[in-house]
Amino acid sequence: MGFIAGSKLLKKPSSAPPNESLQANPIEKTPDNNKEKVDDADNTNDSSKNTSTDDAAKAPDSSDKNETSDNSKVNPNSPGTADTKPVDDSEPKKEAFLTFDDGPTTNITPRILKILDEYNIKATFFVIGQNAEKHPEIIKEEKEKGHAVANHTYSHDYKYIYNNPSNFLKDLEKGDQVLASILGEHSSKIIRFPGGSFGSKRAAYREAVKKAGYTYIDWNALNGDAERLNVPASTLIERVKESTKNKRHVVILMHDAATKKTTADSLPQVIEYLKSQGYEFKTLEQQ
Ligand SMILES: [Zn+2]
Repeated sequence: MGFIAGSKLLKKPSSAPPNESLQANPIEKTPDNNKEKVDDADNTNDSSKNTSTDDAAKAPDSSDKNETSDNSKVNPNSPGTADTKPVDDSEPKKEAFLTFDDGPTTNITPRILKILDEYNIKATFFVIGQNAEKHPEIIKEEKEKGHAVANHTYSHDYKYIYNNPSNFLKDLEKGDQVLASILGEHSSKIIRFPGGSFGSKRAAYREAVKKAGYTYIDWNALNGDAERLNVPASTLIERVKESTKNKRHVVILMHDAATKKTTADSLPQVIEYLKSQGYEFKTLEQQ
């Protein structure tokens, strides 16, 4: 499916028909990809931001190729599913995967966790190793509450990690080590590229991480909280509505960063909306 690259998750039979996967196209919001980079790139200098922006602008080509090959892995499962369970075919489950990048933070993560608890919803936190080191107790709490804790690199430093694939892998490994030291073990191989995996300039990085056994997951919906500071909650909610429209499987990009107060403010309404649309909530490890 569009928001997923790599193969591990796609090998599992899904209730969704294959054409659903094609619908979930991560490219439609390419400008937001740029913005995500700019905003959450605290450690990024201008030149690497520009590089990322160029990269995202070229997203459609390489991502499409990537999806095509991934979908071919899914297809063998589909005919059987469709023949024996026609109900699944006409009425696939709607699933929402809330994802929060760049944490943990002392002011926003606890608010997100509280809201998720209130709705008894599990989400996925793509955490930065450096931040995890500073707040290990929050990482533990995320895990204890049943959320997925996944690696979003150790440094999130575009200049370093995207200098070459070897650096990227080293940074991922360092992130894994931090999570393992906090949690006792960290076996999840799910990662998210800072700024997303889109674009031809990331091709070598995608290959390298796949070869190293990682599964990288982008997004096909978002709340737009990376566009600028203090995006009004009402705008964030609208962006979720727009970007999830007509999609049965949505991976929603949001940010768990100190400045993202309105992301927490808007979260109850985002959840209410998705519930009203019939979505079930899962972590990316439950896919
Ligand atoms: Zn990030």
